[in-house]
Amino acid sequence: MKIVLLGPPGAGKGTQAKDLSKRLALSHISTGDILREEVKNNTALGREAKAYMDKGELVPDKLVISMLQSRLTSKSANNGFILDGFPRNLPQAKALDEMLKAAGIDIDNVFYLEASEPVIVQRLSGRRVCTKCGAIFHVQNMPPKTENICDKCGAKLYQRSDDHEETIKNRLHVYLKETAALIDYYKKQDKLHYVDADREADFVIKDILKIAKGS
Ligand SMILES: [Zn+2]
Repeated sequence: MKIVLLGPPGAGKGTQAKDLSKRLALSHISTGDILREEVKNNTALGREAKAYMDKGELVPDKLVISMLQSRLTSKSANNGFILDGFPRNLPQAKALDEMLKAAGIDIDNVFYLEASEPVIVQRLSGRRVCTKCGAIFHVQNMPPKTENICDKCGAKLYQRSDDHEETIKNRLHVYLKETAALIDYYKKQDKLHYVDADREADFVIKDILKIAKGS
């Protein structure tokens, strides 16, 4: 089964992708993770990507597609994959389709995790990260035992600068604008399923599994 997960920041894509990959025995392919790995392993593609990142530029789609190609067609993805974090716009979706088509692979389902602005703001603005070990807490959903102190290592917690309310709203609007044409594209292919992601993760995954197994 080949799945693409879409959804704005705070909709729970990463959590769902991890859980789904376990339950359906699919390879979880996150473009963010792949980029970091290729750079860390100092591969030819990684070095090329790093040159852009060091200049503060976006890594070109072509390069990301090349990295994806080896993962999507590798043995570990034999049973299928969940693509998380890519595509983010129409040109990327078309480039992805072209590459998959050449490899004889077809995407089965695209899930759009739909979350409302107040829920996204609540989830992301409440997030606190440990300055030392990177553990993540949430002021309401997963509070530390002592306010602003990490349960695991005792260091102070902080709020990431892009988790401030105005920045979150801005990230959300950028995402919605970028993905509008992408969503139409998958709708026309009859692959798009909206899932209400304002709810807790357990409810969201049940919906996804029902649709995935029915197709
Ligand atoms: Zn810590």
